[in-house]
Amino acid sequence: MADVPEILAELASVEMHAIQTSGNCIRNTTTDQFAGVVAGEIEDPRPTCELIRQWSTFHPEFAFLPRKFKIAVNAHPDVDRAATQVHDIGVFIVRNAAGERGYKIMVGGGLGRTPIVGSIIRDFLPHQDLIAYLDAVLRVYNLHGRRDNKYKARIKILVKALTPAVFAEQVEAEFKHLQGGPLTVPDAEFERLASFFTAPAYETLPASAELAAARAADPVLDNWVHRNVTTHKVPGYAIVTLSLKKTGIAPGDITAEQMEAVADLADRYSFGELRSTHEQNLVLADVRQSDLPALHAELKVLGFDTANIGFLTNIICCPGGDYCSLANAKSIPIAEAIQRRYQDLEEVYDLGPIDLNISGCMNACGHHHVGHIGILGVDKRGAEFYQVSLGGSAGHDASIGDILGPSFDAGDMAEVIEEVLNTYLDLRQPGEAFLATYRRVGIEPFKERVYANAD
Ligand code: SF4
Repeated sequence: MADVPEILAELASVEMHAIQTSGNCIRNTTTDQFAGVVAGEIEDPRPTCELIRQWSTFHPEFAFLPRKFKIAVNAHPDVDRAATQVHDIGVFIVRNAAGERGYKIMVGGGLGRTPIVGSIIRDFLPHQDLIAYLDAVLRVYNLHGRRDNKYKARIKILVKALTPAVFAEQVEAEFKHLQGGPLTVPDAEFERLASFFTAPAYETLPASAELAAARAADPVLDNWVHRNVTTHKVPGYAIVTLSLKKTGIAPGDITAEQMEAVADLADRYSFGELRSTHEQNLVLADVRQSDLPALHAELKVLGFDTANIGFLTNIICCPGGDYCSLANAKSIPIAEAIQRRYQDLEEVYDLGPIDLNISGCMNACGHHHVGHIGILGVDKRGAEFYQVSLGGSAGHDASIGDILGPSFDAGDMAEVIEEVLNTYLDLRQPGEAFLATYRRVGIEPFKERVYANAD
């Protein structure tokens, strides 16, 4: 605690702060970790995030809301990497039939003890009206959100109680007072905000023949590029995800020395920029394709080369009972037990894309509700047990997982997950991913097999 003032002072020296990271206010706005560099975006979402940040920071009217408030922005029509639909407000950058830029607005999503996917209250909002509309949403919530019960104070409870349609009507009524007023954002302001996110000094690069040759000669490199590297919108560059999911290390953990080494990699390979992901990994967003073999070799030394992004062992795991005083159960040993059972990467790849998320209590920091497989630590008469849910998704097809049934002992968890996955392997159709199979067959076959074998 004594070090905190110094830490804050050092953060301030590099333009970072912890203001509004706690309290019943609008928290930090989040977006895709590949924002501005990934192919296929409608536009870079960061200027929109910056607009929301400047509006919400120190906003005097919204400094004491009924409860905390989180906003996420998505700009990719095919992928949602920011779990946007389970935020208090989800802002989706869209274009209408006339090609005009605007936003689709969802409200009332969230996890925790009442998990809900948000509801659309506006299909298309002209871009200049974003702040006036968000102001209207916040005003309705500030006025009518419950302040008598902390567990019923989030906007999702209000939206559910009123129904999304009635909530939307109230927002539209408030918005009428604000539309066209001083909260209107002129295009020049969007341009000013966009100027904070200028592209680094990209070179004009030919397709890398060197990389193709290196991949052909080294199957390990080839596999890593296939799994952990994402297509960049600028030819000759690549987006690299550093996997912090090595078995035996708590998911997402990195030492100060490793962090220094990664900062050095960022300087040498990615214009000095490093990004973090809510899936607990790190990203170098602007790597020359010709540098990928050298970067891969350096990541190998650091242990961040595990080629498991998007697969079972890339587990999201909260700190749980090892560190968190709110926990009902430990999370980290469960992640490790599952990773140890699935050490063979070929077996992991055969299972296809799977999100497995673990939380140590119903606060759901590990996003277990939206894991294709979710694990929740529960307390049963002082003992640690684990509830499994299936069929969640944090993407554009967001859904809350269904609870499989009675909870399991810690020692059985790796086997339980194996039974779930074997059920999938038996039932899947050619090329069908876990989530698609689950949605086709439902929970019953999983339940039957897991509990039959548990008896
Ligand atoms: S989910 Fe619960 S146990 Fe895990 S970090 Fe959050 S509050 Fe702590």
